[in-house]
Amino acid sequence: MFNRLIFKKQQLTFMFLNLIAFTVIFTIFSIIIFSQVQNTLFSKTDEELLSFKERLTGNNPESLRLPPKEGNLNPPARTDERQKGMLNPRMIVIHWDGSGNILNEDEIGTLFYENYLESYTLDKTNLNEITMTKISDLYHFRYILFEDQNDQDQTVFTQLMVNVDAEQTIIANFEKLIIICSVIFIVLSISASFILSRKMMKPIIHSWNKQAEFVENASHELRTPLTIIQNKLELLLTVPQERIADRFENIALSLSETRRLSKLTSDLLTLARADSAETQIIKQSIHLDSFIENICAPYQEIAESQEKHFTLSCQSPFTIEADETRLHQLVVILLDNALKYTGENDRISVKTYTEDLKAVIEVSDTGIGIRDENIGHVFDRFYREDKARTRETGGMGLGLSIAQWIVSMHDGTIQVKKNQPAGSIFIVKLPK
Ligand code: ADP
Repeated sequence: MFNRLIFKKQQLTFMFLNLIAFTVIFTIFSIIIFSQVQNTLFSKTDEELLSFKERLTGNNPESLRLPPKEGNLNPPARTDERQKGMLNPRMIVIHWDGSGNILNEDEIGTLFYENYLESYTLDKTNLNEITMTKISDLYHFRYILFEDQNDQDQTVFTQLMVNVDAEQTIIANFEKLIIICSVIFIVLSISASFILSRKMMKPIIHSWNKQAEFVENASHELRTPLTIIQNKLELLLTVPQERIADRFENIALSLSETRRLSKLTSDLLTLARADSAETQIIKQSIHLDSFIENICAPYQEIAESQEKHFTLSCQSPFTIEADETRLHQLVVILLDNALKYTGENDRISVKTYTEDLKAVIEVSDTGIGIRDENIGHVFDRFYREDKARTRETGGMGLGLSIAQWIVSMHDGTIQVKKNQPAGSIFIVKLPK
């Protein structure tokens, strides 16, 4: 229940973070596109405004001289410019005198002047800068206002304006589109964040559960021998006058449980260190055949003492790069199991050979074997096919997990197969 709450909280955090990340990306993306569209739409108009201003003020200043207010309002020079067809028909040129009166009403056109410009006033705030304005609160214009001189060298102002209603409509529509897209995007990103956060939580929940299961199994395995030892020792305390020889069984059992505990704690430590990636392997050149022969020697003797047939066939006369201690541990785990799960007259066979440029160590036996449905679980921690039986043999289901970890640390593979007619075969492949 408590875990579930933690997971839910964590999932919400992930979801929230994903949502923020999506939103930030989308917002930046929208801002870039929006400003890009805006710039592109206005860039041509702005160019025209600037180049026309350039021509009015730079190229032929004489011909562009402006008349005094009471003089001729249509200077021939500007008319010439228009006749040359070089002026955008959307361009409106307004000449202002210093006190804010329009000098070229006639040129602008009576209709436009009377309807829209009569109430329009000179605004010198953004002198020489391209600016947006609205006329009659309805029509959008882009303009540039700059200082000019008339024929009498009086300072006047020229304002070049271009109607940009079409562009403004495109921008307004685009704005609407972005808002609609944002709403759709938010809905989509909420769903995507939810799905993603669930996906992110899956491996976390999985390893959390595995860890919890591991701790539970470990405590259970530790408790059993501890209880046995405690009981046996308490029993001994009730008969202090008795001799050790009389209570030999109790002491021997306690000792064997202590050994079990010691093996269990060292296995647990190995796996815990493997999980935290604390254990580094130190590779060195190992002559595989002589290495295997050395490990097998005592096992051969044990097998013979148990009336089992042990055969060894080494055909890997080369060296491999491996951690000697870990490789030793790996082979011992497989040999221990072969001995544990075989009976009298069974055969245990160890082979080394080369396959697909890999060094192969094969440990097979004709023992009890592993049932088909359990074969996939033998490398799981604490997995024992027959708990009652393996307790007799001293197994705790950690050996093959450690073996698998050792093999993976060497970039190799470990595989288990059924032996014919009975028993199992463990095949370890290591890079040469
Ligand atoms: P254990 O210490 O219990 O042997 P392992 O991890 O080494 O733990 O093995 C896990 C389980 O796989 C064993 O409990 C046993 O059921 C099965 N197993 C392993 N090796 C063999 C084998 N050679 N023959 C039959 N069963 C085996």
